[in-house]
Amino acid sequence: MVRNNFKNKFKGAIDILKIFNQKGYEAYFVGGCVRDYLLGEDFSDIDITTNALPDEVKKVFRKSIDTGIQHGTVTILVNGDSYEVTTFRTEEDYTNHRSPEKVEFVSNLREDLDRRDFTINAMALDYNGKLFDYHNGDQDLNSKIIRTVNNPNERFYEDALRMLRAFRFSSKLGFEIENNTLNAIKRNAELIKFVSIERIVNEFKKLLAGKGNLRSLELLIDSKLNSYIPFFDEVDEVQDFLSYSFCQSLYILAKLNNISFEKLRDLKLSNKEIKKIKEYERINLEFIDNIPLELILYKYDKDDIHFIIDYFGYCDKKEIDIINLPITSFNDIAITSTEIISIIDKSPGPWIKEVTKKLEEAILLNKIDNTEKNIVDFLKKIRDNI
Ligand code: ATP
Ligand code: MG
Repeated sequence: MVRNNFKNKFKGAIDILKIFNQKGYEAYFVGGCVRDYLLGEDFSDIDITTNALPDEVKKVFRKSIDTGIQHGTVTILVNGDSYEVTTFRTEEDYTNHRSPEKVEFVSNLREDLDRRDFTINAMALDYNGKLFDYHNGDQDLNSKIIRTVNNPNERFYEDALRMLRAFRFSSKLGFEIENNTLNAIKRNAELIKFVSIERIVNEFKKLLAGKGNLRSLELLIDSKLNSYIPFFDEVDEVQDFLSYSFCQSLYILAKLNNISFEKLRDLKLSNKEIKKIKEYERINLEFIDNIPLELILYKYDKDDIHFIIDYFGYCDKKEIDIINLPITSFNDIAITSTEIISIIDKSPGPWIKEVTKKLEEAILLNKIDNTEKNIVDFLKKIRDNI
C-alpha cells in the first residue's frame, strides 16, 4: 500500500515514540491508525503499543489517565492531544468466549501483534515509519480482505465478538471477508451469545455507519450470526443505512421487519435512544392519522419530521419548511395557565391539559389570533363544554 506522508499524518505523535526510545523503551503506532494510514485514509485516534509498563508510561508522561489500567492501557495527554498507550500484552486467559479480565504483559512486539484480531489491524510502525507486518496485513489491505490473525476457529472461540467485528470492518472499509474466516463465523456463530449486549451494540453502531453496510449486513444474515442476537434475530430485510443515524437505522429495521419496539429494550440502549426511536413512530402515526402539518411541526423536532416524511414519502420537505408557526411553545401564548384557570373558573384538574391543547390547536391552525382578547373570547366559548 502507499506509504507516504508519514510525518504529515502522525505529526507530533512521532515525538512521543522518540521520547519512549530515549528513555530506553520500544514504542510503535499500532492498529487502526496504521491500517488507515496505509489506506491513505484519515484517522482520528492514534494508539501506541510499548514495552514500558503502565507505571513506567506514567513516569515518562506526567499527564495521564488510567483508562484501562487493568488491561495495560493508559491515556496520555500531550500538547492537548490524547493517545492510548498499551503495554505489549497477550490475552491468554479467555473464559466464556470473551476478552479476558486479566492480561499478561509480554516483552516483544510480535506477541502483541499476534493477539490482535485481523491481519489488517495487526501492524505497527516505528518512529521512522518502518512497518512491522508479521501477518501479511499490507497484502490483505491491497486485496481488500478481512482475515483473522492465525486460525479463525480458535480466534473466534477465544473472543466471539471478533465475528461481529469482521462484519464491522468489512462494512467500514468495503472489504470482503476471506473464506476460511467467513466459514469459521458460520461454525461458531452461536458463541456470540456469551458476549455482552453493550459490546455487540457498539460494533453494530459502527457496522451500520460503514460505506459497505448493506453488503456486510447481507453477509451477516447469511452467516446466521444475527440469529443469536436479540432484536437482530428478527431481521432479514435490510437496506443501505449509510445516510441514516443509528437510531434511524434501528427504526427502519424495526419497520422493515415488523419488529415490536419493545424488543429494543433487549439491546440496552440509552433512554435517550429509545425515546428517539419511539418518537419516530409517533410522528409516523400522526401522518397516518392525517394530523395537520402545523400541529406535527409544533410538537416534534424538525429533523425528525424530515426523516419520517422522506422515508415514507408523506410529503415534500418544502411543504414543512414554508410553514411559519404563530407559536413554537406554550410560553409564546399571550396568556398564562393561571389566567386560563381563572377564566374557566374550575378547580385545577386534567381539564387544563385538554383546554391548553384546544387553545394551541386553535392558534396553530389560525382559527384565532394569538392575542389576549381573542384567547379570552375563545376560552369563554368553550367553557361550557368542559
Ligand atoms: P476504528 O478506527 O474503527 O476504531 P480500530 O482498529 O481502532 O478501528 P478498535 O476497536 O478501536 O478498532 O481496536 C483497536 C485495535 O485493538 C484493533 O485494531 C485491534 O488490533 C485490537 N483489537 C480490538 N478489539 C480486539 C479483539 N476483540 N480481539 C483482538 N484484537 C482486538
Ligand atoms: Mg479505535
